[in-house]
Amino acid sequence: MQDRFRALLVTKDRERQSARVTELTDSDLMDGDVTVSVEYSTVNYKDGLAVTGKAPIIRKFPLIPGVDLAGRVLRSQNPDFHEGDRVVLNGYGLGEAHHGGFAERARVKSDWLIPLPQGISTAQAMAIGTAGFTAMLCVMALEKAGITPGSGDVLVTGAAGGVGSVAISLLDKLGYRVVASSRRAESEGAYLRELGADEIIDARGLSDEAARPLDKQRWAGAVDAVGSRTLANVPACGLAQGSDLPATVLPFILRNVTLIGVDSVMAPREKRQAAWHRLASDLDLSKLDKMTTKIALDDVPAVAEQIVAGKTRGRVVIDLKA
Ligand code: NDP
Repeated sequence: MQDRFRALLVTKDRERQSARVTELTDSDLMDGDVTVSVEYSTVNYKDGLAVTGKAPIIRKFPLIPGVDLAGRVLRSQNPDFHEGDRVVLNGYGLGEAHHGGFAERARVKSDWLIPLPQGISTAQAMAIGTAGFTAMLCVMALEKAGITPGSGDVLVTGAAGGVGSVAISLLDKLGYRVVASSRRAESEGAYLRELGADEIIDARGLSDEAARPLDKQRWAGAVDAVGSRTLANVPACGLAQGSDLPATVLPFILRNVTLIGVDSVMAPREKRQAAWHRLASDLDLSKLDKMTTKIALDDVPAVAEQIVAGKTRGRVVIDLKA
């Protein structure tokens, strides 16, 4: 007899997309050599777009969304993974073209799985999730570009969101002076300071103004989750404001500004392992708790609407055992 499990399934009827929690069996899962009992998942901005249908993230219907999952191996055809192993998976088209993390069970390719480093629980792995993993990749990119705590202030945009919250905590622990830019500078000021922001600025100064190419130099580096005019005003990973880039080449050719693109989805395996190990050592887990809200699978459609509207704070974890 097959085991039944709960999942959020997104279906499409003509142009109308809908999401509902339903019961599935193992035969509904896609191909893969490892079956995982999913303990936790998370709602990222991209998941919000997928569940609401506000952007064409899902490439196959019906599909279980969820670009992240963490749990324990149930069955494995790969000798490197054994029953009970703690694993984490983010990206690789999970929740886009392959059934994702918004279910109690997943069948995936073992090449996509990363053994969870000691010191991080499956719940904490999802409090980090793609957003936190991407924040780590951004910090590693700044380091590779030679930005040290002595170089000057580092700006984080979309500060109260997932990428922003983890980026602030990481940069603070690593000794950087962090300037947080938020549209919610007033209401979330205390939260951002608790995470480690040294200064908070109103995001409208960056997002509403047309960029002046050679404005005063203010920051040694930036982690940008917002894009569009904001990105034209700062020297890179998100598009919460827009995917355009209304800028000129002047800052690049006259100030040596470097724009580094960061892709979490297809990041190579060595880089993933390095990023997860850095997260285990460089992220203050008490701050991670402060930025995390726990929800149940049934709450996901409502939270998806909220994240797309820019109304969630920090990170949202889905407890699949609830
Ligand atoms: P969140 O929704 O948690 O955070 C985004 C934040 O951006 C919001 O909290 C808000 O911050 C700000 N924001 C939202 N809408 C607007 C707007 N219209 N104009 C200006 N600011 C806005 O999302 P995530 O942190 O999960 O993701 C952030 C971005 O990074 C997304 O675009 C996502 O797609 C992208 N991303 C890219 C990855 C990659 O691999 N390159 C991986 C992960 C995420 P505040 O209220 O503080 O102003």
